[in-house]
Amino acid sequence: MTTTDLPFDAATQTDLQDDRPLRQAMLRGWRRKCPACGSGPMLHSYLKVREHCPVCDEALHHHRADDGPAYLTIVVVGKLLTPLIFYIFVKFRPEPLVMAAAFSIAAVALSLYLLPRLKGMLVAIQWSRRMHGFGSSAD
Ligand SMILES: [Zn+2]
Repeated sequence: MTTTDLPFDAATQTDLQDDRPLRQAMLRGWRRKCPACGSGPMLHSYLKVREHCPVCDEALHHHRADDGPAYLTIVVVGKLLTPLIFYIFVKFRPEPLVMAAAFSIAAVALSLYLLPRLKGMLVAIQWSRRMHGFGSSAD
């Protein structure tokens, strides 16, 4: 079977995946850096994605992160803290007010830490997979 027999252009698809490696883009996004060059800051004022990378001028405005980062943050924080709450309650039986205060602070702190990093990762995935206009050569 040759590549011309395939229902889609497999050779082009492979080329697209190779020049924007997903793992590298995700790591750069986690560090809140431009997925193309890895040195320019992707975000400004905590969560806003820059129009273009200040270092390599890669267009970043094509992203459609929407509620994805918030959803992922809720899932991750919930999965991390729920078993910990259960374990702490069963093992130590702390005062309810102390436990509520401590886990509220932990949930807010962890959410504030994860939210921009997960947003960076989501934008980088979209850039790597050429979604929502990231693949166009216009800008
Ligand atoms: Zn850049």
